[in-house]
Amino acid sequence: MDFAPAAPSLHRTAPPAVAGREPWVPPELSLVCLDIDDTLIDCTAAIRRSLAVLTGRDDLWPLWDLITEEHVALVVAGKLGYDVMHHRRTGCFLAELGILADADQVGAFEARRREILARSWRLFDDVLPCLDWLRAAGLRLAAVTNASGVHQRRKIADLGLAPYFDHVAIAGEIGVAKPDPVMFRSVCLAMDCPPERAVHVGDKLDTDAIGAFGAGLGAVWLDRDGTSRTGERAPDGVHTVAGLGELPELLVSEYATVGVPAPRTAGTPAARLRGGMF
Ligand SMILES: [Mg+2]
Repeated sequence: MDFAPAAPSLHRTAPPAVAGREPWVPPELSLVCLDIDDTLIDCTAAIRRSLAVLTGRDDLWPLWDLITEEHVALVVAGKLGYDVMHHRRTGCFLAELGILADADQVGAFEARRREILARSWRLFDDVLPCLDWLRAAGLRLAAVTNASGVHQRRKIADLGLAPYFDHVAIAGEIGVAKPDPVMFRSVCLAMDCPPERAVHVGDKLDTDAIGAFGAGLGAVWLDRDGTSRTGERAPDGVHTVAGLGELPELLVSEYATVGVPAPRTAGTPAARLRGGMF
């Protein structure tokens, strides 16, 4: 994977010049927000594995994902707490399989599933090089996730991600979730950063990218599965990358100060560090 800085090229979204108007000036960037599940952590693979171990079947991920979406929507709407949701989701999943489990059996299945998950979390290969690049570029980082607090903080800590982030925003802790613009703006507020100087990167087009765009942030859809090549497309103004290895070039292309060498004799430590990279 090549993280060397590249010349601005493919992604710049400067509008065409119009006579009498000021030329487009690329914005400044201070903050990069990153989703966690299936953006940094290969969550789908871990859940697939846990379901396969527990049921002996490897085709149940779509059912689990559908049931999860329905139950997370109830949490976001304030109708369920996360702990209750986890139990009900598992009960609903078992019922869909024709297994009528009582509360203790559902609890045992969920506990076993979490044990397997805890051993299965993995970062995608492009995560740490990208986070290192972003930090070295002097950017502040925030994790922005719709998951619940306890489990998500454990994952972040266990995988060594915590030192990279200046701020962690977890929907289950703050009572609002992506794509609600309040979620994105609360992160910007906590980081004392105007939305237009922040960008959010995530794997869900609606929840992450379009939600962030609607809140006034820069928006990047991380399309690891190549969906944009076969069907779903990001709307104008929302960028698409196939992996985090493409993110540095995109940010260098789109933002004024990312990747701009700083004078060697002046500037902040972060700016000097940035200058030393190129
Ligand atoms: Mg995600």
